[in-house]
This record gives sequence, structure tokens and C-alpha cells, in this order.
Amino acid sequence: KELKQFAYAASHDMKEPLRTVINFVQLLQKKYGESLDDRASQYMGFIVDGVEHMQKLIESLLAYSRIDIKKERLTKVSVNDAYEQAITNLSPSIKENKAVVTRDELPVIDGDEMQIVLLLQNLIGNGIKYHNAGDVPHVHVSATREDDTWTFVVRDNGIGIEQQYFEQIFQIFQRLHSYSQYSGTGIGLALCKRVVEQHNGKIWVESTPGQGTNFIFTFPSC
Ligand code: ADP
Repeated sequence: KELKQFAYAASHDMKEPLRTVINFVQLLQKKYGESLDDRASQYMGFIVDGVEHMQKLIESLLAYSRIDIKKERLTKVSVNDAYEQAITNLSPSIKENKAVVTRDELPVIDGDEMQIVLLLQNLIGNGIKYHNAGDVPHVHVSATREDDTWTFVVRDNGIGIEQQYFEQIFQIFQRLHSYSQYSGTGIGLALCKRVVEQHNGKIWVESTPGQGTNFIFTFPSC
């Protein structure tokens, strides 16, 4: 309940002043841009970057706080379709990074479709983003069934994660890199964990630094 109230405050009270800051910086640039020296223009660029980063943080925090399961939104979800939607949403990043994203046949599960799309989008998006410069990012999604549980794996060939961080990365705002190295808000994996747990599943990571990462999550089968 507190998180929801916070989300409300964030959307209405924090977005508005940020918009004012960005509007006036843009106005300054437009009206006085020619009389400003390079350094002043550079500083204004930093302000715009900072505000845009803050806007992304607020948006992700809102997305995170909206994750709760409403019984009426639970439907049979084709994970193949959710994957296709996630790929469509990620198409600018796939193009930009020349990434190769593939999947096996994925099952139908009981869930909230929008949340499953967000889950795949975050995991595949990270698999694309955290690659070594010069490497072509490969991400593959697979699923296997054992008894009444589906186990999904999102595998990448990226930079990998050291074992000491396997728990920490699922906490909100925990990042292992600076914003200038790899952009991001540190909310994606916290959101994934919340989605999986709301569906009575588990999520964890296995990785070899320098070789790649597997994000593994389970869902009860229907
Ligand atoms: P963001 O990507 O916005 O920083 P996340 O919560 O999605 O936030 O991820 C938290 C941290 O975990 C990232 O900053 C990154 O250091 C690490 N990480 C996540 N996914 C991967 C991956 N596929 N390969 C390597 N590191 C990753």
C-alpha cells in the first residue's frame, strides 16, 4: 500500500518539476543558445541527461510498483506470443547491437500476459545489453517441463556476473556498473523477481564471468 502511494506521488509530484526543469533548459538553449559558450552548452547537456535519467528511474519505479496479480487478469498465456511481443518492444536495441535472439518452442502458462512480456523483455534486454564490445550478443530462451513445473532459461554469451553478486542484483537499484558504462536503472531484475514470485515461481542466476549468463525461472504448469 505504501509503495502504491509512493508511486502516485512519484508520478504526479516528481514528474512535474522535472518537466519544468527540462522545458526551461530547452527554452534557454533556444533563446540564448548562440550567446552561450561551449562550456555553458555542455553544462546544459549534463542537466538534460540527468533529468532524462531521473525520468527513466521514475518510470521504472512506477512499472515495478504496478506489479501485482489481479485474479481477473490471469489468463492462459502463450509464452511464444509473449516472447514475440518482447522482441517487438526490443527491436531498436536488437538492431543497434546486431543481436541474435532465438527461442525453442515455449509453453502456455497461467499468468498475467503483460507481466510475462515485461519479464522476458527485461531478461532478453539485459542479455543484449551486457555484452563485451565487439562481440555479437546471442540470447536464447528455452523451457523444459518436469512434473508440474516449467523451468525457463534465458541464456546469453555476455560479460557474465561474479558469483558474489548472484543475490544482490535482484535487489532494487543494485547495479554492478556505472551508468556511463552500461545505461540502466537497476530496477529490471527486481521487477523480474516480483513478477515470477507473484506467479508462485522462483528466479535465480548462473554465470561464468567472461562467458555468459543463464537467468533461470520457474512457473507452475497449468
Ligand atoms: P539495469 O540493467 O537497469 O542496471 P537490472 O536490475 O536489470 O538493472 O540488473 C542489475 C545488474 O545486474 C546490472 O546493472 C548488471 O550489472 C547485472 N546484470 C543483469 N543482467 C545481466 C546479464 N545478462 N549479464 C551480465 N550482467 C547482468
